[in-house]
Amino acid sequence: MKAIVLRKNSTAVELIDIPKPSPKANEVLVKTVRCGLCGTDREIIRRGIPDVPPGEDFLVLGHECLGRVESVGDEAETDFKPGDLVTVLVRRGCGECNACRTGHVDYCYTGKYTERGIHKVHGFFTEYFTDKPEYLIRVEQDMEDLGALAEPISVSAKAYEVAARLMGRVCFDGACSFRGKQEKALVAGHGPIGMLAALLLVVEGYDVSVLGRREKGDFQRAFVESFGAKYLNIATDEDKRFAQEQGGFLLIFEATGLAELTFRLPEMLSRNGILILTGVPRGPQEICFDGNTFMANLVRYNQTVTGTVNASREDFEMALRYLRTFREKFPETAAGIITGRYSLDDWQKAFGKKGQNEIKAVIEFE
Ligand SMILES: [Zn+2]
Ligand SMILES: [Zn+2]
Repeated sequence: MKAIVLRKNSTAVELIDIPKPSPKANEVLVKTVRCGLCGTDREIIRRGIPDVPPGEDFLVLGHECLGRVESVGDEAETDFKPGDLVTVLVRRGCGECNACRTGHVDYCYTGKYTERGIHKVHGFFTEYFTDKPEYLIRVEQDMEDLGALAEPISVSAKAYEVAARLMGRVCFDGACSFRGKQEKALVAGHGPIGMLAALLLVVEGYDVSVLGRREKGDFQRAFVESFGAKYLNIATDEDKRFAQEQGGFLLIFEATGLAELTFRLPEMLSRNGILILTGVPRGPQEICFDGNTFMANLVRYNQTVTGTVNASREDFEMALRYLRTFREKFPETAAGIITGRYSLDDWQKAFGKKGQNEIKAVIEFE
């Protein structure tokens, strides 16, 4: 069967033949329906040093998958049946720490976890794969269209869950700033994670603005506006002033990976505001910013800055619920999130340069 892989010490992605996996008695065999491509894949390719499984010289890429159960091993403890749709948890715990032992592998303390398609375990850009049922998450048949987005939106769902817990410290009697007020949220960046975070925050009832650099008439900007979020172009003074005059945002969701932008975001937080970071910059970079004001505001206004990575089973399940609600409210927009569908024959086009109008590209395997 075919698989899209990156070999050790290579930055050239290849389509190769690998043996079809035979599931162990406690495993499930899954046929890939589609798998999404993201910035993490592009970063692994750019670095050219994939974390290959022990004893192998390549890594099968891909971690944003929707699959169909093909067969279930005799000893697999599960009620999955052939034909069921599934998505798959990416991270596998260390088995040692309390976080991993209680199913919170996204909070692993030892760092000895593995991640499918990213770190020491093969991913899903391949026709079939096997896994233990405990790592599979059911996707209802009517969510076939959006199920491959469960993984990227699970990252946003976890970040929101963390923010909501932090928000709990400053919400009283069921409300935050004022009773009945729609709170303001800002999403910095509109790559897939930012875009899905904006969509989630709209579902959660926030007044959402998205920060980027696109001009009026741009596709991504129009997409943001199609589900009721405002678009703020940080390159224009007018929008910059607007963002500052908002009286601040109770929640700012960072999804840019750019330090020089991120450390300007606290200026836009409201009192009691939360800045949550999901972008990962690579390599060291010194930046110049006003540390005194940053520190004074954090203290004076009870502000919080925190980071978050990966997601648990609960976050994946929450992600699927967000996608369903979003599709009910904005069916046309939901249908447009996957902007590129490529067959396996056309895989190289998907892995080419990311287009201006790309939100999410997927490889179709069926
Ligand atoms: Zn991803
Ligand atoms: Zn652990």
